[in-house]
Amino acid sequence: MTADAHGELTSELANDIAVEIDRLRTHYVGRLPEEFIALEVQIAALDGREKDRKLLENIHHCLHKLTGSGGTFGLAAMSTEAREAENLVKSWLEAPHLIAVDAARAALLGVLSRLREAGTHNTVTPSAVNTTSSAPFSHQATGEQRLNLWLVEPDAQVGEELVRALTQFGYQVRRFAQPYELAAAIVGARPDALIIDIGDAAGMAISDTVSHTLITLNCPLLLVSEHGDFESRASAARLGASGFLVKPIDAARLVDHLERIFDAQQALPCRVLIVDDDAPLAEHFRLVLCAAGMEVDVLSEPARIIERVATFRPELVLLDVNMPGHSGPELATVIRHHDEWLSLPIVYLSAETDLSKQIKALNRGADDFITKPVSDPQLVAAVRVRVARSRQLGELMSKDSLTGLLKHSRIKEKIVVEVGRARRNGTPVSVAMIDIDHFKSVNDTYGHAVGDSVIKAIAHLLRQRLRKSDTVGRYGGEEFVAVLPECDEATAKQILDDIRERFGALRFRHDGIEFASTLSAGVACSTTLSAADGNELLIAADAALYTAKHAGRNQVRLAGE
Ligand code: GH3
Ligand code: MG
Ligand code: MG
Repeated sequence: MTADAHGELTSELANDIAVEIDRLRTHYVGRLPEEFIALEVQIAALDGREKDRKLLENIHHCLHKLTGSGGTFGLAAMSTEAREAENLVKSWLEAPHLIAVDAARAALLGVLSRLREAGTHNTVTPSAVNTTSSAPFSHQATGEQRLNLWLVEPDAQVGEELVRALTQFGYQVRRFAQPYELAAAIVGARPDALIIDIGDAAGMAISDTVSHTLITLNCPLLLVSEHGDFESRASAARLGASGFLVKPIDAARLVDHLERIFDAQQALPCRVLIVDDDAPLAEHFRLVLCAAGMEVDVLSEPARIIERVATFRPELVLLDVNMPGHSGPELATVIRHHDEWLSLPIVYLSAETDLSKQIKALNRGADDFITKPVSDPQLVAAVRVRVARSRQLGELMSKDSLTGLLKHSRIKEKIVVEVGRARRNGTPVSVAMIDIDHFKSVNDTYGHAVGDSVIKAIAHLLRQRLRKSDTVGRYGGEEFVAVLPECDEATAKQILDDIRERFGALRFRHDGIEFASTLSAGVACSTTLSAADGNELLIAADAALYTAKHAGRNQVRLAGE
Protein backbone atom coordinates (compact mmCIF):
# COMPACT_ATOMS: atom_id res chain seq x y z
CA MET A 1 0.00 0.00 0.00
CA THR A 2 1.56 3.28 -1.00
CA ALA A 3 0.59 6.84 -0.29
CA ASP A 4 1.61 9.93 -2.20
CA ALA A 5 3.98 12.56 -0.86
CA HIS A 6 1.44 13.77 1.70
CA GLY A 7 0.37 10.44 2.96
CA GLU A 8 -2.96 10.91 1.23
CA LEU A 9 -4.18 8.23 -1.03
CA THR A 10 -4.97 8.48 -4.66
CA SER A 11 -8.62 7.90 -5.43
CA GLU A 12 -7.73 4.61 -7.09
CA LEU A 13 -6.08 3.38 -3.95
CA ALA A 14 -8.93 4.67 -1.79
CA ASN A 15 -11.27 2.65 -3.97
CA ASP A 16 -9.11 -0.41 -3.48
CA ILE A 17 -9.36 0.10 0.26
CA ALA A 18 -13.13 0.61 0.13
CA VAL A 19 -13.37 -2.67 -1.80
CA GLU A 20 -11.14 -4.33 0.79
CA ILE A 21 -13.30 -3.01 3.63
CA ASP A 22 -16.40 -4.32 1.91
CA ARG A 23 -14.69 -7.66 1.50
CA LEU A 24 -13.88 -7.73 5.22
CA ARG A 25 -17.48 -6.85 6.03
CA THR A 26 -18.82 -9.62 3.81
CA HIS A 27 -16.39 -11.99 5.43
CA TYR A 28 -17.50 -10.84 8.87
CA VAL A 29 -21.20 -11.26 8.09
CA GLY A 30 -20.44 -14.66 6.60
CA ARG A 31 -18.70 -15.75 9.82
CA LEU A 32 -21.56 -14.63 12.08
CA PRO A 33 -23.55 -17.92 11.93
CA GLU A 34 -20.47 -19.70 13.33
CA GLU A 35 -20.20 -17.15 16.12
CA PHE A 36 -23.87 -17.69 16.93
CA ILE A 37 -23.42 -21.47 17.04
CA ALA A 38 -20.47 -21.06 19.43
CA LEU A 39 -22.66 -18.87 21.60
CA GLU A 40 -25.49 -21.40 21.46
CA VAL A 41 -23.18 -24.22 22.54
CA GLN A 42 -22.08 -22.25 25.59
CA ILE A 43 -25.67 -21.35 26.49
CA ALA A 44 -26.69 -24.99 26.20
CA ALA A 45 -23.85 -26.01 28.52
CA LEU A 46 -25.17 -23.91 31.40
CA ASP A 47 -26.32 -26.42 34.04
CA GLY A 48 -26.56 -24.58 37.36
CA ARG A 49 -23.16 -25.67 38.63
CA GLU A 50 -20.07 -23.67 39.52
CA LYS A 51 -18.55 -23.91 36.02
CA ASP A 52 -21.44 -21.73 34.82
CA ARG A 53 -19.46 -18.73 35.97
CA LYS A 54 -16.69 -19.49 33.48
CA LEU A 55 -19.28 -20.12 30.76
CA LEU A 56 -21.00 -16.81 31.51
CA GLU A 57 -17.64 -15.05 31.33
CA ASN A 58 -17.09 -16.56 27.89
CA ILE A 59 -20.60 -15.60 26.79
CA HIS A 60 -19.98 -12.07 28.05
CA HIS A 61 -16.78 -11.87 26.04
CA CYS A 62 -18.55 -13.08 22.86
CA LEU A 63 -21.31 -10.51 23.31
CA HIS A 64 -18.77 -7.79 24.01
CA LYS A 65 -16.98 -8.54 20.75
CA LEU A 66 -20.27 -8.51 18.84
CA THR A 67 -21.09 -5.10 20.32
CA GLY A 68 -17.87 -3.55 19.05
CA SER A 69 -17.44 -5.30 15.75
CA GLY A 70 -21.15 -5.31 14.81
CA GLY A 71 -21.30 -1.53 14.97
CA THR A 72 -18.08 -1.14 13.01
CA PHE A 73 -19.24 -3.42 10.22
CA GLY A 74 -22.55 -1.59 9.84
CA LEU A 75 -24.79 -3.90 11.90
CA ALA A 76 -26.03 -1.26 14.31
CA ALA A 77 -29.15 -3.13 15.43
CA MET A 78 -27.17 -6.25 16.24
CA SER A 79 -24.60 -4.18 18.11
CA THR A 80 -27.33 -2.58 20.27
CA GLU A 81 -28.86 -5.97 20.98
CA ALA A 82 -25.47 -7.39 21.94
CA ARG A 83 -24.72 -4.47 24.23
CA GLU A 84 -27.97 -4.95 26.16
CA ALA A 85 -27.30 -8.66 26.52
CA GLU A 86 -23.72 -7.99 27.55
CA ASN A 87 -24.94 -5.72 30.37
CA LEU A 88 -27.44 -8.35 31.45
CA VAL A 89 -24.78 -11.04 31.68
CA LYS A 90 -22.47 -8.67 33.50
CA SER A 91 -25.14 -8.05 36.15
CA TRP A 92 -25.46 -11.81 36.63
CA LEU A 93 -21.73 -12.16 37.03
CA GLU A 94 -21.63 -9.40 39.60
CA ALA A 95 -24.53 -10.90 41.62
CA PRO A 96 -23.50 -12.76 44.77
CA HIS A 97 -25.30 -15.94 43.69
CA LEU A 98 -25.67 -17.64 40.35
CA ILE A 99 -29.04 -16.91 38.86
CA ALA A 100 -31.55 -19.66 38.15
CA VAL A 101 -30.12 -21.57 35.24
CA ASP A 102 -33.39 -22.13 33.37
CA ALA A 103 -34.23 -18.46 33.42
CA ALA A 104 -30.70 -17.55 32.28
CA ARG A 105 -30.74 -20.04 29.45
CA ALA A 106 -34.17 -18.89 28.26
CA ALA A 107 -33.15 -15.25 28.37
CA LEU A 108 -29.95 -15.95 26.45
CA LEU A 109 -31.68 -18.03 23.82
CA GLY A 110 -34.06 -15.11 23.30
CA VAL A 111 -31.07 -12.82 22.91
CA LEU A 112 -29.49 -15.24 20.46
CA SER A 113 -32.52 -15.40 18.23
CA ARG A 114 -32.73 -11.59 18.16
CA LEU A 115 -29.01 -11.39 17.35
CA ARG A 116 -29.47 -13.85 14.50
CA GLU A 117 -32.39 -11.83 13.22
CA ALA A 118 -30.41 -8.56 13.34
CA GLY A 119 -27.25 -10.17 11.98
CA THR A 120 -28.78 -11.79 8.95
CA HIS A 121 -31.50 -9.34 7.94
CA ASN A 122 -29.19 -6.44 8.06
CA THR A 123 -28.94 -3.44 5.86
CA VAL A 124 -25.26 -2.92 5.53
CA THR A 125 -24.40 0.71 5.15
CA PRO A 126 -21.89 1.59 2.47
CA SER A 127 -18.39 2.00 3.79
CA ALA A 128 -17.59 5.45 5.05
CA VAL A 129 -13.88 5.45 4.43
CA ASN A 130 -12.47 8.86 4.96
CA THR A 131 -10.03 9.31 2.13
CA THR A 132 -9.28 12.85 3.34
CA SER A 133 -9.23 15.83 1.07
CA SER A 134 -8.22 14.99 -2.45
CA ALA A 135 -5.98 18.00 -2.95
CA PRO A 136 -3.48 16.85 -5.56
CA PHE A 137 -1.12 19.47 -4.21
CA SER A 138 2.45 18.31 -4.07
CA HIS A 139 5.75 19.88 -3.30
CA GLN A 140 9.15 19.11 -1.87
CA ALA A 141 10.78 21.66 0.32
CA THR A 142 14.28 20.71 -0.67
CA GLY A 143 16.80 23.37 -1.49
CA GLU A 144 16.43 22.47 -5.15
CA GLN A 145 12.77 22.41 -5.99
CA ARG A 146 11.22 25.81 -5.62
CA LEU A 147 7.67 26.32 -4.51
CA ASN A 148 5.53 28.09 -6.98
CA LEU A 149 3.47 31.06 -5.76
CA TRP A 150 0.91 33.09 -7.66
CA LEU A 151 0.46 36.62 -6.45
CA VAL A 152 -2.43 38.88 -7.43
CA GLU A 153 -1.27 42.40 -6.64
CA PRO A 154 -2.80 45.39 -8.48
CA ASP A 155 -0.17 47.84 -7.19
CA ALA A 156 2.83 47.44 -9.49
CA GLN A 157 5.40 48.76 -7.02
CA VAL A 158 4.17 46.70 -4.08
CA GLY A 159 3.94 43.71 -6.40
CA GLU A 160 7.48 44.03 -7.67
CA GLU A 161 8.85 44.38 -4.18
CA LEU A 162 6.97 41.34 -2.97
CA VAL A 163 8.11 39.28 -5.93
CA ARG A 164 11.69 40.27 -5.20
CA ALA A 165 11.44 39.46 -1.49
CA LEU A 166 9.66 36.15 -2.00
CA THR A 167 12.20 35.16 -4.63
CA GLN A 168 14.96 35.92 -2.15
CA PHE A 169 13.28 33.55 0.26
CA GLY A 170 13.53 30.86 -2.37
CA TYR A 171 10.04 30.90 -3.88
CA GLN A 172 9.20 31.12 -7.54
CA VAL A 173 6.63 33.88 -8.02
CA ARG A 174 4.30 34.77 -10.85
CA ARG A 175 2.46 38.06 -10.54
CA PHE A 176 -0.98 38.96 -11.84
CA ALA A 177 -2.37 42.46 -11.75
CA GLN A 178 -6.03 41.45 -11.46
CA PRO A 179 -7.89 38.42 -10.12
CA TYR A 180 -9.70 37.75 -13.40
CA GLU A 181 -6.35 37.02 -15.09
CA LEU A 182 -6.17 33.82 -13.07
CA ALA A 183 -8.91 32.18 -15.11
CA ALA A 184 -6.68 32.06 -18.20
CA ALA A 185 -3.57 31.08 -16.26
CA ILE A 186 -5.05 27.96 -14.68
CA VAL A 187 -5.17 26.20 -18.02
CA GLY A 188 -2.30 23.77 -17.74
CA ALA A 189 -0.60 25.40 -14.77
CA ARG A 190 -1.18 25.70 -11.08
CA PRO A 191 0.59 27.19 -8.08
CA ASP A 192 1.47 25.65 -4.75
CA ALA A 193 -0.20 28.60 -3.05
CA LEU A 194 -2.14 31.68 -4.13
CA ILE A 195 -1.85 35.12 -2.56
CA ILE A 196 -4.49 37.72 -3.44
CA ASP A 197 -4.40 41.36 -2.43
CA ILE A 198 -8.08 42.26 -2.21
CA GLY A 199 -7.31 45.89 -1.39
CA ASP A 200 -10.08 47.59 0.53
CA ALA A 201 -12.82 45.30 -0.75
CA ALA A 202 -14.33 42.85 1.67
CA GLY A 203 -13.62 39.20 0.90
CA MET A 204 -17.17 38.88 -0.40
CA ALA A 205 -16.37 41.26 -3.22
CA ILE A 206 -14.20 38.70 -4.96
CA SER A 207 -16.27 37.89 -7.96
CA ASP A 208 -17.91 34.57 -8.66
CA THR A 209 -15.39 33.91 -11.41
CA VAL A 210 -12.58 34.09 -8.92
CA SER A 211 -14.33 31.87 -6.40
CA HIS A 212 -14.77 29.40 -9.22
CA THR A 213 -11.08 29.68 -10.07
CA LEU A 214 -10.25 29.14 -6.42
CA ILE A 215 -12.24 25.94 -6.37
CA THR A 216 -10.52 24.73 -9.54
CA LEU A 217 -7.09 25.57 -8.18
CA ASN A 218 -7.76 23.86 -4.89
CA CYS A 219 -4.56 25.23 -3.37
CA PRO A 220 -3.91 27.17 -0.18
CA LEU A 221 -5.07 30.77 -0.35
CA LEU A 222 -3.69 33.78 1.51
CA LEU A 223 -5.64 37.02 1.40
CA VAL A 224 -4.15 40.43 1.94
CA SER A 225 -6.53 43.23 2.87
CA GLU A 226 -6.62 46.87 3.95
CA HIS A 227 -8.99 45.92 6.74
CA GLY A 228 -8.51 43.55 9.63
CA ASP A 229 -12.08 43.74 10.94
CA PHE A 230 -14.09 40.69 11.85
CA GLU A 231 -16.40 40.81 8.79
CA SER A 232 -13.48 40.88 6.35
CA ARG A 233 -11.85 37.97 8.14
CA ALA A 234 -15.09 36.02 8.22
CA SER A 235 -15.52 36.57 4.45
CA ALA A 236 -11.98 35.35 3.91
CA ALA A 237 -12.71 32.28 6.00
CA ARG A 238 -15.81 31.61 3.88
CA LEU A 239 -13.63 31.67 0.79
CA GLY A 240 -11.49 29.03 2.45
CA ALA A 241 -8.45 31.26 3.00
CA SER A 242 -5.72 29.62 5.07
CA GLY A 243 -4.32 32.98 6.07
CA PHE A 244 -5.31 36.62 6.29
CA LEU A 245 -2.82 39.48 6.38
CA VAL A 246 -3.50 43.15 6.95
CA LYS A 247 -1.50 45.72 4.99
CA PRO A 248 1.22 46.88 4.81
CA ILE A 249 2.55 43.49 3.75
CA ASP A 250 5.68 42.39 5.48
CA ALA A 251 7.46 39.76 3.39
CA ALA A 252 8.83 37.95 6.45
CA ARG A 253 5.35 37.63 7.93
CA LEU A 254 3.97 36.44 4.61
CA VAL A 255 6.69 33.80 4.42
CA ASP A 256 5.87 32.81 7.98
CA HIS A 257 2.30 32.06 6.95
CA LEU A 258 3.38 30.21 3.83
CA GLU A 259 5.80 28.05 5.79
CA ARG A 260 3.13 27.12 8.28
CA ILE A 261 0.81 26.07 5.46
CA PHE A 262 3.47 24.06 3.66
CA ASP A 263 4.71 22.46 6.87
CA ALA A 264 1.21 21.23 7.68
CA GLN A 265 0.86 19.78 4.19
CA GLN A 266 4.19 18.09 4.42
CA ALA A 267 3.43 16.46 7.73
CA LEU A 268 4.54 12.86 7.86
CA PRO A 269 1.80 10.26 8.12
CA CYS A 270 0.65 9.43 11.64
CA ARG A 271 2.01 6.11 12.94
CA VAL A 272 -0.61 4.16 14.85
CA LEU A 273 -0.33 0.84 16.66
CA ILE A 274 -3.56 -1.10 17.16
CA VAL A 275 -3.69 -3.75 19.87
CA ASP A 276 -6.85 -5.82 19.65
CA ASP A 277 -7.49 -9.55 19.94
CA ASP A 278 -10.41 -9.32 17.52
CA ALA A 279 -8.45 -9.80 14.29
CA PRO A 280 -11.13 -8.84 11.72
CA LEU A 281 -12.01 -5.73 13.69
CA ALA A 282 -8.36 -4.73 14.04
CA GLU A 283 -7.94 -5.26 10.31
CA HIS A 284 -10.93 -3.04 9.65
CA PHE A 285 -9.47 -0.24 11.81
CA ARG A 286 -6.14 -0.69 10.08
CA LEU A 287 -7.67 -0.28 6.64
CA VAL A 288 -9.71 2.75 7.65
CA LEU A 289 -6.66 4.51 9.09
CA CYS A 290 -4.50 3.49 6.12
CA ALA A 291 -7.12 4.94 3.79
CA ALA A 292 -6.69 8.23 5.63
CA GLY A 293 -2.96 8.10 4.86
CA MET A 294 -1.68 6.76 8.16
CA GLU A 295 0.93 4.07 8.81
CA VAL A 296 -0.67 1.36 10.87
CA ASP A 297 0.58 -1.74 12.59
CA VAL A 298 -1.61 -4.33 14.28
CA LEU A 299 -0.48 -6.34 17.28
CA SER A 300 -2.51 -9.37 18.19
CA GLU A 301 -0.13 -10.79 20.81
CA PRO A 302 -0.16 -8.38 23.76
CA ALA A 303 2.96 -9.97 25.24
CA ARG A 304 5.03 -8.45 22.42
CA ILE A 305 3.92 -4.90 23.12
CA ILE A 306 7.28 -3.59 24.33
CA GLU A 307 9.20 -5.02 21.43
CA ARG A 308 6.65 -3.65 18.95
CA VAL A 309 6.52 -0.15 20.44
CA ALA A 310 10.32 -0.05 20.34
CA THR A 311 10.57 -1.10 16.69
CA PHE A 312 7.50 0.56 15.17
CA ARG A 313 7.77 3.75 17.27
CA PRO A 314 4.06 4.59 17.11
CA GLU A 315 2.83 8.11 17.77
CA LEU A 316 -0.36 6.72 19.23
CA VAL A 317 -1.49 3.35 20.58
CA LEU A 318 -5.09 2.22 20.20
CA LEU A 319 -5.65 -0.33 22.90
CA ASP A 320 -8.53 -2.73 23.39
CA VAL A 321 -9.50 -3.01 27.06
CA ASN A 322 -10.84 -6.51 27.36
CA MET A 323 -8.50 -9.05 25.88
CA PRO A 324 -7.88 -12.56 27.07
CA GLY A 325 -4.54 -13.00 28.82
CA HIS A 326 -3.49 -9.38 29.25
CA SER A 327 -5.90 -6.49 29.69
CA GLY A 328 -5.49 -3.08 28.02
CA PRO A 329 -4.84 -1.28 31.31
CA GLU A 330 -2.13 -3.82 32.11
CA LEU A 331 -0.43 -3.09 28.79
CA ALA A 332 -0.78 0.67 29.27
CA THR A 333 0.96 0.35 32.63
CA VAL A 334 3.77 -1.71 31.10
CA ILE A 335 4.29 0.94 28.42
CA ARG A 336 4.42 3.67 31.06
CA HIS A 337 7.09 1.76 32.97
CA HIS A 338 9.44 3.01 30.25
CA ASP A 339 10.45 6.63 30.73
CA GLU A 340 10.90 7.28 27.02
CA TRP A 341 7.25 6.41 26.37
CA LEU A 342 5.73 8.49 29.13
CA SER A 343 4.31 10.96 26.62
CA LEU A 344 3.17 8.39 24.04
CA PRO A 345 -0.60 8.87 23.66
CA ILE A 346 -2.52 5.71 24.57
CA VAL A 347 -6.20 5.57 23.73
CA TYR A 348 -8.54 2.77 24.68
CA LEU A 349 -10.78 1.66 21.89
CA SER A 350 -13.30 -0.49 23.62
CA ALA A 351 -16.91 -1.50 23.82
CA GLU A 352 -16.77 -0.84 27.57
CA THR A 353 -19.44 1.73 28.48
CA ASP A 354 -19.35 1.32 32.25
CA LEU A 355 -18.09 4.74 33.30
CA SER A 356 -16.47 3.56 36.51
CA LYS A 357 -14.56 0.88 34.60
CA GLN A 358 -13.52 3.46 32.00
CA ILE A 359 -12.19 5.73 34.72
CA LYS A 360 -10.41 2.85 36.39
CA ALA A 361 -8.80 1.93 33.08
CA LEU A 362 -7.78 5.55 32.44
CA ASN A 363 -6.12 5.68 35.83
CA ARG A 364 -3.74 3.07 34.55
CA GLY A 365 -1.80 5.43 32.34
CA ALA A 366 -3.92 5.88 29.21
CA ASP A 367 -5.08 9.26 27.96
CA ASP A 368 -8.54 8.75 26.58
CA PHE A 369 -11.39 6.42 25.81
CA ILE A 370 -13.11 5.91 22.46
CA THR A 371 -16.20 3.77 22.76
CA LYS A 372 -16.88 1.09 20.17
CA PRO A 373 -18.72 1.05 17.89
CA VAL A 374 -17.00 4.00 16.29
CA SER A 375 -17.70 5.26 12.78
CA ASP A 376 -14.80 5.37 10.33
CA PRO A 377 -14.60 9.17 10.02
CA GLN A 378 -14.89 9.44 13.80
CA LEU A 379 -11.95 7.11 14.29
CA VAL A 380 -9.81 8.93 11.72
CA ALA A 381 -10.60 12.31 13.26
CA ALA A 382 -9.98 11.08 16.81
CA VAL A 383 -6.57 9.68 15.90
CA ARG A 384 -5.55 12.69 13.80
CA VAL A 385 -6.42 15.23 16.46
CA ARG A 386 -4.56 13.35 19.17
CA VAL A 387 -1.44 12.80 17.08
CA ALA A 388 -1.44 16.45 15.97
CA ARG A 389 -1.70 17.60 19.58
CA SER A 390 1.07 15.29 20.65
CA ARG A 391 3.29 16.50 17.81
CA GLN A 392 2.61 20.10 18.83
CA LEU A 393 3.70 19.36 22.37
CA GLY A 394 6.79 17.58 21.09
CA GLU A 395 7.67 20.58 18.96
CA LEU A 396 7.20 22.92 21.88
CA MET A 397 9.65 20.88 23.89
CA SER A 398 12.35 20.68 21.24
CA LYS A 399 11.84 23.77 19.06
CA ASP A 400 12.49 27.41 19.59
CA SER A 401 9.22 29.34 19.60
CA LEU A 402 10.38 32.38 17.61
CA THR A 403 12.00 30.54 14.72
CA GLY A 404 10.69 26.98 14.86
CA LEU A 405 14.31 25.81 14.71
CA LEU A 406 15.77 23.25 17.12
CA LYS A 407 16.71 24.51 20.52
CA HIS A 408 20.32 24.73 21.72
CA SER A 409 20.44 21.35 23.45
CA ARG A 410 18.72 19.52 20.60
CA ILE A 411 21.02 20.84 17.89
CA LYS A 412 24.04 19.89 19.99
CA GLU A 413 22.66 16.36 20.31
CA LYS A 414 22.08 16.31 16.57
CA ILE A 415 25.69 17.27 15.85
CA VAL A 416 26.95 14.38 17.99
CA VAL A 417 24.60 11.94 16.22
CA GLU A 418 25.54 13.14 12.73
CA VAL A 419 29.27 13.21 13.38
CA GLY A 420 29.05 9.65 14.74
CA ARG A 421 27.08 8.50 11.73
CA ALA A 422 29.47 10.21 9.31
CA ARG A 423 32.43 8.55 10.95
CA ARG A 424 30.82 5.10 10.70
CA ASN A 425 29.90 5.68 7.05
CA GLY A 426 33.20 7.29 6.15
CA THR A 427 31.39 10.36 4.78
CA PRO A 428 32.03 14.04 5.52
CA VAL A 429 29.78 16.19 7.69
CA SER A 430 30.02 19.96 7.92
CA VAL A 431 28.95 22.19 10.77
CA ALA A 432 28.29 25.90 10.24
CA MET A 433 28.00 28.55 12.90
CA ILE A 434 26.10 31.63 11.70
CA ASP A 435 25.76 34.99 13.41
CA ILE A 436 23.99 38.19 12.37
CA ASP A 437 26.34 41.17 12.05
CA HIS A 438 25.91 44.16 14.33
CA PHE A 439 22.56 42.88 15.41
CA LYS A 440 22.60 44.90 18.57
CA SER A 441 22.35 48.06 16.48
CA VAL A 442 19.29 46.67 14.63
CA ASN A 443 17.57 46.31 17.99
CA ASP A 444 18.80 49.69 19.18
CA THR A 445 17.72 51.49 16.01
CA TYR A 446 14.44 49.80 15.09
CA GLY A 447 13.34 48.06 18.27
CA HIS A 448 13.29 44.51 19.53
CA ALA A 449 10.20 43.48 17.51
CA VAL A 450 11.90 44.41 14.24
CA GLY A 451 15.00 42.55 15.45
CA ASP A 452 12.79 39.51 15.95
CA SER A 453 11.53 39.67 12.38
CA VAL A 454 15.13 39.74 11.13
CA ILE A 455 15.86 36.62 13.21
CA LYS A 456 12.80 34.93 11.73
CA ALA A 457 13.85 35.88 8.23
CA ILE A 458 17.21 34.20 8.60
CA ALA A 459 15.52 31.10 10.00
CA HIS A 460 13.22 30.94 6.97
CA LEU A 461 16.13 31.34 4.60
CA LEU A 462 18.11 28.58 6.29
CA ARG A 463 15.17 26.21 6.12
CA GLN A 464 14.44 27.08 2.52
CA ARG A 465 17.97 26.79 1.28
CA LEU A 466 19.15 23.71 3.14
CA ARG A 467 18.33 20.12 2.23
CA LYS A 468 15.87 17.98 4.11
CA SER A 469 18.69 15.93 5.57
CA ASP A 470 20.32 19.05 7.02
CA THR A 471 19.39 20.32 10.47
CA VAL A 472 19.30 23.88 11.75
CA GLY A 473 19.10 25.11 15.30
CA ARG A 474 18.97 28.41 17.07
CA TYR A 475 22.12 28.24 19.11
CA GLY A 476 21.69 31.53 20.93
CA GLY A 477 19.99 34.92 20.43
CA GLU A 478 21.10 35.72 16.87
CA GLU A 479 23.38 32.73 16.44
CA PHE A 480 22.48 29.64 14.45
CA VAL A 481 24.04 26.25 13.82
CA ALA A 482 23.53 24.13 10.71
CA VAL A 483 24.59 20.50 10.42
CA LEU A 484 25.12 19.32 6.85
CA PRO A 485 25.64 15.57 6.51
CA GLU A 486 27.46 14.24 3.45
CA CYS A 487 28.63 17.71 2.61
CA ASP A 488 32.31 18.54 2.12
CA GLU A 489 33.99 21.78 3.10
CA ALA A 490 33.87 23.43 -0.33
CA THR A 491 30.19 22.65 -0.87
CA ALA A 492 29.30 23.82 2.62
CA LYS A 493 31.09 27.11 2.02
CA GLN A 494 29.28 27.54 -1.27
CA ILE A 495 25.88 26.92 0.33
CA LEU A 496 26.56 29.25 3.23
CA ASP A 497 27.81 31.94 0.85
CA ASP A 498 24.61 31.66 -1.11
CA ILE A 499 22.56 32.02 2.07
CA ARG A 500 24.70 34.98 3.08
CA GLU A 501 24.06 36.72 -0.24
CA ARG A 502 20.34 36.07 -0.12
CA PHE A 503 20.13 37.35 3.43
CA GLY A 504 22.05 40.51 2.49
CA ALA A 505 19.62 41.14 -0.36
CA LEU A 506 16.56 41.08 1.91
CA ARG A 507 15.03 44.44 2.71
CA PHE A 508 13.40 45.06 6.05
CA ARG A 509 11.14 47.95 6.72
CA HIS A 510 10.23 49.92 9.80
CA ASP A 511 8.27 53.18 9.90
CA GLY A 512 8.90 53.68 6.20
CA ILE A 513 12.65 53.24 6.59
CA GLU A 514 14.22 50.41 4.65
CA PHE A 515 17.29 48.61 5.88
CA ALA A 516 19.33 45.49 5.18
CA SER A 517 21.37 43.21 7.39
CA THR A 518 24.30 40.86 6.88
CA LEU A 519 25.64 37.70 8.44
CA SER A 520 28.96 36.01 9.05
CA ALA A 521 29.56 32.28 9.21
CA GLY A 522 32.25 29.80 10.15
CA VAL A 523 32.36 26.31 8.64
CA ALA A 524 34.15 23.20 9.91
CA CYS A 525 34.18 19.85 8.13
CA SER A 526 34.87 16.47 9.73
CA THR A 527 37.18 15.22 6.97
CA THR A 528 39.39 18.31 7.01
CA LEU A 529 39.76 18.22 10.78
CA SER A 530 40.47 14.52 11.04
CA ALA A 531 39.16 12.62 14.08
CA ALA A 532 37.12 15.60 15.24
CA ASP A 533 34.12 14.80 17.41
CA GLY A 534 30.93 16.87 17.42
CA ASN A 535 32.12 19.25 20.08
CA GLU A 536 35.47 19.88 18.41
CA LEU A 537 33.74 20.61 15.12
CA LEU A 538 31.50 23.13 16.82
CA ILE A 539 34.47 24.84 18.48
CA ALA A 540 36.30 24.95 15.15
CA ALA A 541 33.26 26.44 13.39
CA ASP A 542 32.98 29.05 16.14
CA ALA A 543 36.65 29.96 15.74
CA ALA A 544 36.12 30.34 11.98
CA LEU A 545 33.15 32.60 12.68
CA TYR A 546 35.33 34.71 14.94
CA THR A 547 37.85 35.04 12.08
CA ALA A 548 35.04 36.10 9.71
CA LYS A 549 33.90 38.78 12.16
CA HIS A 550 37.41 40.12 12.57
CA ALA A 551 38.08 40.14 8.86
CA GLY A 552 35.23 42.64 8.40
CA ARG A 553 32.00 40.57 8.71
CA ASN A 554 29.55 39.66 5.88
CA GLN A 555 31.63 36.61 4.91
CA VAL A 556 32.03 32.86 5.33
CA ARG A 557 35.29 31.40 6.65
CA LEU A 558 36.53 27.83 6.79
CA ALA A 559 38.09 26.38 9.95
CA GLY A 560 41.88 26.49 9.85
CA GLU A 561 41.81 28.99 6.99
P1 GH3 B 1 28.53 41.05 15.91
O1 GH3 B 1 28.55 41.53 14.52
O2 GH3 B 1 29.88 41.06 16.52
O3 GH3 B 1 27.88 39.72 16.01
O4 GH3 B 1 27.68 42.11 16.73
P2 GH3 B 1 26.25 41.90 17.36
O5 GH3 B 1 25.72 43.23 17.75
O6 GH3 B 1 25.42 41.13 16.45
O7 GH3 B 1 26.58 40.98 18.59
P3 GH3 B 1 26.24 41.05 20.12
O8 GH3 B 1 26.51 39.67 20.61
O9 GH3 B 1 26.95 42.18 20.76
O10 GH3 B 1 24.70 41.36 20.22
C1 GH3 B 1 23.71 40.42 19.95
C2 GH3 B 1 22.42 41.07 20.26
O11 GH3 B 1 21.32 40.20 19.93
C3 GH3 B 1 22.22 41.41 21.70
C4 GH3 B 1 20.84 40.94 22.05
O12 GH3 B 1 20.08 41.96 22.64
C5 GH3 B 1 20.23 40.56 20.73
N1 GH3 B 1 19.31 39.47 20.84
C6 GH3 B 1 19.51 38.24 21.35
N2 GH3 B 1 18.41 37.49 21.26
C7 GH3 B 1 17.46 38.27 20.67
C8 GH3 B 1 16.10 38.06 20.30
O13 GH3 B 1 15.49 37.00 20.52
N3 GH3 B 1 15.44 39.08 19.71
C9 GH3 B 1 16.04 40.26 19.47
N4 GH3 B 1 15.34 41.21 18.86
N5 GH3 B 1 17.31 40.49 19.82
C10 GH3 B 1 18.03 39.51 20.40
MG1 MG C 1 25.92 39.15 15.99
MG1 MG D 1 26.17 36.83 18.67
